[in-house]
Amino acid sequence: MDESSEATVSGVEPEAPSGEPVVVDPPPDHDCEESDGTGGAQREATAEFRGWGAGWPSDNRAAMHKVVAGGVALLVHREIAPIVEALVNETVGRGYQLHSGQCWGYANRAIAGTNRPSNHSWGLAIDLNSTTNPMGPTLVTDMPPWLPDLWIRRGFRWGGAYRGRKDAMHFEYMGSPADARRVAGEVSAAVGSSRPLLRTGAAGAPVRQLQALLNAAGAVLKVDGSFGPATLAAVKAFQQRAGLIVDGVVGRQTWAALGG
Ligand SMILES: [Zn+2]
Repeated sequence: MDESSEATVSGVEPEAPSGEPVVVDPPPDHDCEESDGTGGAQREATAEFRGWGAGWPSDNRAAMHKVVAGGVALLVHREIAPIVEALVNETVGRGYQLHSGQCWGYANRAIAGTNRPSNHSWGLAIDLNSTTNPMGPTLVTDMPPWLPDLWIRRGFRWGGAYRGRKDAMHFEYMGSPADARRVAGEVSAAVGSSRPLLRTGAAGAPVRQLQALLNAAGAVLKVDGSFGPATLAAVKAFQQRAGLIVDGVVGRQTWAALGG
């Protein structure tokens, strides 16, 4: 991977001075995405067959888009970026915290132990929270059942459901570019309505999402969906750090600065 364009720091909380998360490369010994025994080795199952062009060893980095959402930054194919952004936001908004040193997208490599390109080499796969969702012979995951269901509904396959070795951190997009554009349009239409103006007294799912994003930015809040004094204090502290107007009201600029 090109190391020059993103500040990649190992062993350090990967956060730029602005507070915006940066793209993190997986560690060199990181593997995922074994064949699932359902035909993954066959050409018909590959992203190239679905119209995404050649994968590894071709360099697809120019097709990548950086998604910043939910406290993490992921490089993914630009055609699925709006989908990934919406799904990451919903994942965090429902209360599943993501850890920025453990979430990866694009990586130009083969599936370990094979000469078949990984879906990561097209930017069509992401890994979430590798530590608590390791690859192995049995399923180990801290993801609540709604989480893979959420991603599967938008066209992803979950590695935790592989028939062979389980890979709970791993999600891969199984549609064509045309499918991705259609789904991206659907999720983009749904965004906006989920970023309402929030202030003291607000309650519900958008507040839970706000609290999770504030926690990802360093706050320590209970994600209870209730905008009380602690949430207000965390919003003001964040606005101060981000150089925004410190009014404790969460509008478009504060949502954007939070990566939500
Ligand atoms: Zn993976």
